[in-house]
Amino acid sequence: RVVNFSAGPSALPLEVLQRAQSELINTHQSGMSVMEMSHRSKTFERILHEAKDRLKKLLNIPDSYKILFLQGGASLQFSMIPLNLLQKDHEAAYLITGSWSKKALAEAKKVGKTRILASSEEDAFRSIPSLTNASVSPATSYIHVTGNNTIEGTRITEVPKFGSVPVVTDLSSSILSEKINVEDYGLIYAGAQKNLGPSGVTLAIIREDLIGQADQEIPTMLDYATHAKANSLYNTPPTFGIYMVGLVLEWIESLGGIEEIEARNHKKASLLYEAIDSSPLFFSPVRERDRSLMNIPFKTENSETDAAFLQWADSQGLVELKGHRSVGGMRASIYNAMPYDGVERLVDAMTKFEQKTNA
Ligand code: PLP
Repeated sequence: RVVNFSAGPSALPLEVLQRAQSELINTHQSGMSVMEMSHRSKTFERILHEAKDRLKKLLNIPDSYKILFLQGGASLQFSMIPLNLLQKDHEAAYLITGSWSKKALAEAKKVGKTRILASSEEDAFRSIPSLTNASVSPATSYIHVTGNNTIEGTRITEVPKFGSVPVVTDLSSSILSEKINVEDYGLIYAGAQKNLGPSGVTLAIIREDLIGQADQEIPTMLDYATHAKANSLYNTPPTFGIYMVGLVLEWIESLGGIEEIEARNHKKASLLYEAIDSSPLFFSPVRERDRSLMNIPFKTENSETDAAFLQWADSQGLVELKGHRSVGGMRASIYNAMPYDGVERLVDAMTKFEQKTNA
């Protein structure tokens, strides 16, 4: 197998894929594949229940929160959030830290009144903006942040606090990568395809008092209350995806939980950032204190050299390193499933390339 640095869908732990393969045609001794199983069956209900239970333990989710498995990706959450949480005559405040938060804001604008809490767009999103001069109006329904900016390679380390205004965070590219305090948030959401499992499942962890608050009549499928009441079984859920999420969570548990994953992620990210910072050729475009642990962009001064490096890396079995077109250069996405030796191989390829080009 290649070393896959894709930003998403991304590499899954090999052990998880092998386990899924071994159970593919006969899952949990049911005599059928999980893909062929009714979502109302006892076996699938157990799969769903166990996945939720594992997540609850791993993230220390209080009983006052509901765990929902939804569809439509994080992108549908951009609409569901304002439809459900933005109250009449209120506004929603958005912290703009990259392309994904801009997209989230654009959808909220279609639903109601919004305000930009702060933005780092002028800095080409190379940093997280300061909130020292930021304020919210008393009639603010929620604050939206993107916890980890997949494209730009930044992460938020301080949760904004404005009285009791609920904070909503998009953790699509960082969920389960480090410890979080769930109670800092009213709603946490994430598309599964980076740290949780295959695409097709979207996770939402929502504080109960925020469910069923929508002022407007919203479509049944877009109402968090529908999915909360039905235990994520209102309609046919992405059954195979939920099963895979369960296996990924079991894998995290087997390693020692979030503490161990977080320690590994710091070790991997440090190895790569140190190589970039000490390189005569590569540099990081991101302000040091805002750097992501999951998505690490780096560049040379010359786009032709970037292209030559990408080609060289590919020939070494290091794939999907091309940076997003809005940033250019390279981007190594090193999610939970990326082993330390995958990052070592990248660092080694960078050093060899520097030697090759006499940098
Ligand atoms: N938010 C962030 C931070 C992302 O990285 C992505 C996808 O890469 C999205 C939202 C969009 O997710 P989806 O494709 O699941 O709609």
